[in-house]
Amino acid sequence: MMLFAVNELNDLFPESKGAVNDRIPLRHVMTDSRKDLKQSIFVPIVGENFDAHEFLKQAIENGAVASIWQKNREVPRYVPTDFPLFFVDDTLAALQAMAVLYLEKVNPIVIGVTGSNGKTTTKDLTAAVIGTKYRTHKTAGNFNNHIGLPLTIFAMPEQTEVAVLEMGMSQAGEIEVLSHLAKPDYAIITNIGESHIEYLGSREGIAKAKLEIKAGLKNEGALIFDGDEPLLAEELKNANNWGCGVEPQNRSRIENLELTDQNSRFSIAGINYELPLAGKHNVKNASFVITLARLLDISPVQIQEGLNEIEVTGMRFERLKGKHGSLIINDAYNASPTSMKAVIEVIKEMKEKTHKVLVLGDIYELGKHAKQMHRSVAEVIDDTIAAVFTYGEDANQISVAAKEKNPTIKTDHFTDKRKLQQMVEKELGEETVILVKASRGVELETIIDPLIEK
Ligand code: ATP
Ligand code: MG
Repeated sequence: MMLFAVNELNDLFPESKGAVNDRIPLRHVMTDSRKDLKQSIFVPIVGENFDAHEFLKQAIENGAVASIWQKNREVPRYVPTDFPLFFVDDTLAALQAMAVLYLEKVNPIVIGVTGSNGKTTTKDLTAAVIGTKYRTHKTAGNFNNHIGLPLTIFAMPEQTEVAVLEMGMSQAGEIEVLSHLAKPDYAIITNIGESHIEYLGSREGIAKAKLEIKAGLKNEGALIFDGDEPLLAEELKNANNWGCGVEPQNRSRIENLELTDQNSRFSIAGINYELPLAGKHNVKNASFVITLARLLDISPVQIQEGLNEIEVTGMRFERLKGKHGSLIINDAYNASPTSMKAVIEVIKEMKEKTHKVLVLGDIYELGKHAKQMHRSVAEVIDDTIAAVFTYGEDANQISVAAKEKNPTIKTDHFTDKRKLQQMVEKELGEETVILVKASRGVELETIIDPLIEK
């Protein structure tokens, strides 16, 4: 597979030196000089802590055949005279411009997925369902930002018919950039939560930032979104759009919802579906995908086949066999107040185990709202939960508030993971389910290994 030849970049980057008119094939665009860069163009990104221009030597040693280079920077003497260099004002913008060039060449149907929670799950579900009919490429793991999105595009095979691209953000304006870059035919907004409220000020600010995905949406493109969310109500009025949810105003309405511990049943537009995932929030995620699939002419039978195949990226409600017959749910991939409450709801409704223990760590990036947001998690903790153990700086707000609400609940707070682990170990038994959840940076999954049945 070839992305493009060196000489095809002349229109994008008119200032250059070296053999830039040669048809040297480029198979990869690389930002990491430590990798194998054979047949690759190197793009030195200037980050907060490093400036990859310093690594061009290593990139050339590792096989790079061309490079982007920031203007007004001296070209090091070790660079061979015929080595193609393209001079640009901003190397990140150059990375994105090359992604656009390649995307236009492949010209797939583009699905952009954003939202506070559920992007990766929805992206994986979309690829599973759409993949039953079209050659589909999706974001690997969580490569969803201004660098990850271009890299996802470069990884796309040339025959791709549908590209499913996750778009993440932490500040206003970021989704707009990604949307203009990818120009989605369909955009999905999974939900409006509280993540990144520190930078966006309010839930209204968060909604506005997610709606930036409309900026690059193609004409006649459809927005598929959480129609139960009042902050997105305005979008229900657009005849191109599809609100999804349980409330009557939705064009794609979820009906006859039945939840069990490991899967869910529901219907949309009179057709029954089964989803091998627990939790109402996952039914919502599936509703976006089903709506999209119908717009792409995928039959209900094929949709069901796709749903059956869903493989969720690790640490998202991952079921593990714990010691003494217990069940450990590793959802430690990340957390926001909304997603933490959503999984606690799933645990509450779980029937296979009766002794329910929550192990919750800090939720980051809540800024001045941190204390109150952690407290708010306890709103969903009721007497079906036996114990709440918290870990970190702010998470004690959850155990304190849970205790205030239900004085019979066992609670404890830890700042030492070993002590937390010892406490959790005492709870393990045939009837026990342990939920482990916190922000990514807490790495709360590190307490799990000794609790697992070996
Ligand atoms: P990130 O911003 O870290 O990339 P993400 O948006 O990709 O996150 P996922 O990784 O799909 O989200 O899911 C993370 C967690 O969010 C899940 O484990 C679940 O607890 C919760 N979640 C998933 N979908 C929803 C939803 N529609 N509404 C609320 N919470 C959800
Ligand atoms: Mg994600």
